[in-house]
Amino acid sequence: MNYFGTESKSMSVSYWLDKRNVKVKIKTDIAIIGGGITGVLLAYWMDKLGDIKVALIEKGEIGSGATGRNAGFLLAGTSENYYRMQQQYGKRRSKDIYSLTIENHNIIKEIINKNSISCDYTPCGSITAAVTAEELAELEKSADLLAKDGFESKLIGNDIPDFENCFGGILKQSDGGLNPVRFVNGVVSSYSENIELFQHCEVYNYNTTKNGVKITADKLIVDCEMAILAVNGYAGAVSSFLKGKVVPTRGQVLAVAPIKRQLFDGNSIYCDFGFEYFRQLPNGAVLLGGFRQDYRTEELGYSDETTENIQKGLEIFIDKHLPLLKGREITHRWSGVMGFSPDGLPLIGELPSQPGVMFIGGYTGHGLGFSAVLSKGLVQQLLNGRTDIPLGIFSIRRLI
Ligand SMILES: Cc1cc2nc3c(=O)[nH]c(=O)nc-3n(C[C@H](O)[C@H](O)[C@H](O)COP(=O)(O)OP(=O)(O)OC[C@H]3O[C@@H](n4cnc5c(N)ncnc54)[C@H](O)[C@@H]3O)c2cc1C
Repeated sequence: MNYFGTESKSMSVSYWLDKRNVKVKIKTDIAIIGGGITGVLLAYWMDKLGDIKVALIEKGEIGSGATGRNAGFLLAGTSENYYRMQQQYGKRRSKDIYSLTIENHNIIKEIINKNSISCDYTPCGSITAAVTAEELAELEKSADLLAKDGFESKLIGNDIPDFENCFGGILKQSDGGLNPVRFVNGVVSSYSENIELFQHCEVYNYNTTKNGVKITADKLIVDCEMAILAVNGYAGAVSSFLKGKVVPTRGQVLAVAPIKRQLFDGNSIYCDFGFEYFRQLPNGAVLLGGFRQDYRTEELGYSDETTENIQKGLEIFIDKHLPLLKGREITHRWSGVMGFSPDGLPLIGELPSQPGVMFIGGYTGHGLGFSAVLSKGLVQQLLNGRTDIPLGIFSIRRLI
């Protein structure tokens, strides 16, 4: 069966284009498609926990998707506050999900330390802040529920330094931040020769066969026992099953020229129900993203471009909330494609009717917060037939 080219115009490849490059043919145990944080960490766990051959295939460069375009926040929880999480997922599941994101952060720290990865990791702390009285009321309920479940939940007032027109929020001192591009490249540097990396190699076709999966890419043909799609926001372009289930959703960011003194007491700030987020980087630059809420339809799809509406919106946010950034040089503006799932939770599992083809992604804007623990769990499950990480919460079967 042919899953890529026939389904998406952007992914289709003509006879002529297909013939332009000589194809290398390889046999491997597992092929991972997508070299973002998910694919890179899947290969990492296979390398460390197993003795198998892996091909990691990326259409651009490692980290060139959302992984290299995000804000670098390592936050506990999902995009929703804990009160909303409990409303949606129930008390028990919310506690499990929240605990997993804390475990995820610890795993990332372990990987950084074990492999001496220099990626500006900082346990800077975060503030989930309210920009309206209604939001504050929800955050107060969230703080209470977090405390009841034994999680960090310190309520703070509206005097967050350098952040105006804020109503207060929840301080989470154990949250952190990193440079995601340096992180994934550091992980790749730790691989043994069991991991073969193919960059600038777009996969445009895979067939399930009786022995496994055959993958055709730009310069490559791979025969493998199993393929794992780690393409997150691009899922709908490579699988008809995932189309409409993992919705490609653009996020936009800007960066303001460095300011020497420390801002926001060093914390990353996540506010307006997660629709705006900002942090000061180690060199003093300030990164601000979000403002998607008024342009939800415009922000769907795969296009990598910034738009005037959103970028203006971010500047209006600066005027209202971060006046010390007003008029300063904006050095960078960029966008990235995230994968949103129908219920906001990641999706993991074998695709229906496609034995040997797995998917992991759909993080709904929080892939740094989930990918380390979930990729570890998936690899343990595949190699050993079991894992203590409760992957069942994220089973793709809930969409069938
Ligand atoms: C603006 C923005 C801000 C964000 N901020 C945060 C944050 O602060 N904290 C957080 O936790 N999350 C954040 N996210 C979300 C986070 O970046 C993603 O959840 C995470 O990077 C997903 O990683 P991934 O490896 O699954 O996907 P990606 O990084 O998108 O990787 C998928 C890869 O697959 C490749 N690919 C696609 N199709 C093919 C093909 N046919 N053949 C070969 N390769 C292919 C792509 O080139 C890409 O490199 C943000 C995202 C954006 C866009």
